[in-house]
Amino acid sequence: MDIVSITTAAYIVASLLFILALAGLSTHVSSRNGLAYGMVGMAVALLATVALVIHDSTGGNGTGNGASIVLMLVAIAIGASIGLWRAKIVEMTGMPELIAALHSFVGLAAVLIGINGHLDKETYALPSLANIHEAEVAIGIFIGAVTFTGSIVANLKLSGKMKSDPLMLPGKNFINLGSLVVFAILTVVYVAGSDRSTTQDIVLVLLTALALALGWHLVASIGGGDMPVVVSMLNSYSGWAAAASGFLLNNDLLIVTGALVGSSGAYLSYIMCKAMNRSFISVIAGGFGIAAPAGDAKDYGEHREIQAEAAADLLANASSVVITPGYGMAVAQAQYPVAELTSRLRAKGIDVRFGIHPVAGRLPGHMNVLLAEAKVPYDIVLEMDEINEDFPSTDVVLVIGANDTVNPAALDEPGSPIAGMPVLEVWNAKDVIVFKRSMATGYAGVQNPLFFKENSQMLFGDAKDKVEEIIRHLPA
Ligand code: NDP
Repeated sequence: MDIVSITTAAYIVASLLFILALAGLSTHVSSRNGLAYGMVGMAVALLATVALVIHDSTGGNGTGNGASIVLMLVAIAIGASIGLWRAKIVEMTGMPELIAALHSFVGLAAVLIGINGHLDKETYALPSLANIHEAEVAIGIFIGAVTFTGSIVANLKLSGKMKSDPLMLPGKNFINLGSLVVFAILTVVYVAGSDRSTTQDIVLVLLTALALALGWHLVASIGGGDMPVVVSMLNSYSGWAAAASGFLLNNDLLIVTGALVGSSGAYLSYIMCKAMNRSFISVIAGGFGIAAPAGDAKDYGEHREIQAEAAADLLANASSVVITPGYGMAVAQAQYPVAELTSRLRAKGIDVRFGIHPVAGRLPGHMNVLLAEAKVPYDIVLEMDEINEDFPSTDVVLVIGANDTVNPAALDEPGSPIAGMPVLEVWNAKDVIVFKRSMATGYAGVQNPLFFKENSQMLFGDAKDKVEEIIRHLPA
């Protein structure tokens, strides 16, 4: 069997392993196996590709030279070292921004592969094949460039280096739609132009600049509350960018893997849009049709405070408690004392359950991962839809580092940037204790009227310290 057949077989095995990985990642029980399939698939794909490059470079197909091997090994060494270093130091709360940065690399790679496809044209027997190649170059560069700048903006917004408010340029929908029309025209001009003419070079530069600007504008136009959808949407775009590169490089594995990432990312974006009551089309079109939020700061009155000792008393006298964790629990790493508090209260015969909002934290499933890590029994961890009806019959709700996901403005204030998003209706409980360090807003940057309700009390301080203090004050 020749090396090309072996590589093709290895690519099919890797593709199947990637499909098994996605299937495994669909439930928390099978997710470890899913990750293992993904890692083995990636190792098979890498080995096969390296073997092919070595074969070609040592004259296997009569075209290569040894420099390709050196270049490839240097690239692998640099990429692997940076990857290992970042993966080791990244905090769980920093994962979305790291993922956004990785998406930007996929986009940049697709742009570079597209430019290479433009500079290094093969001779085709039929002119129509050359036209297809040129269309692939234009589409590949466009998707790659949108993914590149879009992911950079997502990274800046998620890391707090750029404000999470939506950019509201006048006529923003027109800018997005107009850019797509101009892209289509430029592609036609590029494909129709004569090979490697100055006009073709200029058209490609214009097309790349347009796509870079569009990617920036699309993501900058989306507000903080919709960022989870943006991250999964960019995941999808990076998949399509990889698939476009696969067509240019004639690499079946890249096409299959890109299509898998592209379609699964699009489906995840769709699920998250449904959970957040957002229009999928509106979000992927850069907040299409979303009006600027009313910026007037409302006066909600005074808030009340509670100390850990009184909170411990309230809990000890409750018969039902619901805990709704959010991003602050992840920052404080409060999941371990929260798990201990849960078991102490349950030992007293108090019914304790968790209510998890689909976008709580900074990753899909963020809270579930933290609670599983702290060994909170899975059967008391409920989804938002499963618990919302039970708040009126709940004695105490502990809001631990959550803010946007428990904000009544989403239901009561049509002008709010998070209007329409379903939230955990914690204010329907008898008493609500909110753990946070200040009166600061949550990720979406909107004030939370929950903090000023009659039955709400603020417990200020780091969530981990405060939960530990409550445990110390719980009557034996
Ligand atoms: P929020 O981001 O709305 O609020 C978190 C709160 O935690 C803050 O108000 C902060 O208040 C508090 N906090 C931070 N650190 C601590 C600490 N050490 N101790 C105690 N409190 C702390 O959280 P939610 O989980 O409610 O909402 C998630 C938001 O993030 C949503 O807007 C969602 O759309 C967005 N998002 C979600 C993603 C996902 O995939 N899940 C991805 C990207 C964005 P203070 O500073 O006063 O302490």
